[in-house]
Amino acid sequence: SIYGDYIKSVIRTVPNWPEQGVNFRDITPLLQNSAAFRKLIESFVHRYRDMQLDAIASIDARGFIVGAPLAYELGTSFVPVRKKGKLPFKTVSETYKLEYGHSEVELHADAFRPNDRILLVDDLIATGGTMLAAANLIQRSGGRVVETSTIIDLPELGGSQKIRDAGYGVFAVCS
Ligand code: 5GP
Repeated sequence: SIYGDYIKSVIRTVPNWPEQGVNFRDITPLLQNSAAFRKLIESFVHRYRDMQLDAIASIDARGFIVGAPLAYELGTSFVPVRKKGKLPFKTVSETYKLEYGHSEVELHADAFRPNDRILLVDDLIATGGTMLAAANLIQRSGGRVVETSTIIDLPELGGSQKIRDAGYGVFAVCS
């Protein structure tokens, strides 16, 4: 992407967090740097400004950091995809497997109109389970997932390939 190398340079890797053996990709230095944060949002705006999107759906919680300014800038609606039990109205949900156990993402049943063109945004794709569950949930609810997008892809974990194999496009600002 246009600012990919620069964005990558302001992401911090924290070894052995949240557990031994995990290298956590920490985006807070990127958010702290106002020039970098602007370039991050511009990377998405540049790709999506002419795609006639109706809504930006983003994933609880770091996805919201990109999704909300992007919806504002593109003039679309904003749809929160949340972890189970957070949304107050009628919901639809999708369960997915984690390394140990399961997780669940939810949407309000009236979050968008049938056939709306929706961009899905999160901060990072690891195994791809979260993004794929959210994309399937949107499609199952009558929306059209134009593309899935992320700040960071970890391609060696195979998640983005799994999402592509399921038929969705994947855009990553950096890998
Ligand atoms: P996946 O479902 O692809 O295995 O994991 C992606 C989800 O976990 C995303 O919602 C993301 O916020 C979170 N996640 C997993 N690992 C990391 C990481 O190293 N850095 C950040 N920022 N988020 C992570």
